[in-house]
Amino acid sequence: METKYLALPGPTYVEPDVLLEMSKPIFNHRNSKFKELLIDVTEKTKKLLMTENEVFFLTSSGTGAMECAVVNCFSRGDKVLALINGSFGQRFADIAKQYEVEVIEHHGTWGKGFDQEKIKEIINEHGDSLKGITIVHCETSTGVLNDIKSISELRVSEDTLLLVDGISSIGAESVETDQWGIDVILTGSQKVLALPPGLAIIAFSHKALLACENSKLPKYYWDIKTYRKFYKEKKETPYTPAIPLYTGLLKQLKELESKGFEKEIEKHKNISNMVRTAIRAMGLELLNDDHVSANTVTPILVPEGIDLKEMRTILLKKYGVDVAGGQGKLEGQIFRIGHLGNVEPLFVISVLAALEMTLKELGHPLEIGTGVKAAQEFWFDGK
Ligand SMILES: *Cc1c(COP(=O)(O)O)cnc(C)c1O
Repeated sequence: METKYLALPGPTYVEPDVLLEMSKPIFNHRNSKFKELLIDVTEKTKKLLMTENEVFFLTSSGTGAMECAVVNCFSRGDKVLALINGSFGQRFADIAKQYEVEVIEHHGTWGKGFDQEKIKEIINEHGDSLKGITIVHCETSTGVLNDIKSISELRVSEDTLLLVDGISSIGAESVETDQWGIDVILTGSQKVLALPPGLAIIAFSHKALLACENSKLPKYYWDIKTYRKFYKEKKETPYTPAIPLYTGLLKQLKELESKGFEKEIEKHKNISNMVRTAIRAMGLELLNDDHVSANTVTPILVPEGIDLKEMRTILLKKYGVDVAGGQGKLEGQIFRIGHLGNVEPLFVISVLAALEMTLKELGHPLEIGTGVKAAQEFWFDGK
């Protein structure tokens, strides 16, 4: 069966009217139509990110924006603290290491939040010499939402930039870029924004832009100074933009704005709580605790005696449901249900129903309908 339920933490389901909007004829990206579009998406994105900082768009996946953040903010040998409690935190560190940035890796436990005291010690120890901190807001590999605001406040030096990967959180979690003092925040089109993959968004604070002027790491396509100059002087991107994705983005941003950014966050929170309630009712175990769990993805331990590969195959072939496996050191141990973007209660209930039938088929002792019932009840009166 073809995939009908894309229950991954990205890419996510794209609405037909968005696809239709994106299928309109391509136009010249150096004409006034594109300039207006670029101004529009820039201004609306600032609202989404709660920022007055400068926003740029890159034709790339989210990882490209992570690399862009690193190469623009630092120079070879700069000391950067990489906070790692999952595979995307590690990715940020690995990118910086490729450029010979002096990365101090701090490893938290996968599936848990960070110990603030330990981080405070490291920050204090390095003082002014610490040029940056990298962190992932929603660590998609474990479903943990890291506390950006608190970590931002631990900084002791004006020179320490805070770089945040908000790829799977922006739009579904509260992200107050300016209030929290985030210097670089970034996301991708294929997650909560519910667009096809290929467009990344990145915002730089005034302090980060000053760092860009001094950064000596090699870059060409990622050089934000060029994007800045083009936007300032011509309201254009330096290189050919992914025009349809900008058209789709404008539609999505308008939609989000009219629904209310807060309401969308609330929707994701309710859906996430609904999934967690259902999973517990089914007798399955969640990887993370409620107080650190993100709104966009639920990580579930593979039940004893269940072959994950077989389970995912049945889900996909029989029911058209695609859930994600585990990443890095959690590969084979967990599976993840993504519920972000255009998700609705019935989408999740369908996924849960398929999961119950699949587990039953594989001989797992569970009473069919328990999870679905818990989800329905949660939605009906619990939320
Ligand atoms: C999806 C994701 C990425 C990777 O994005 P790509 O678009 O695949 O490059 C990075 N970080 C987080 C937190 C993500 O969820």
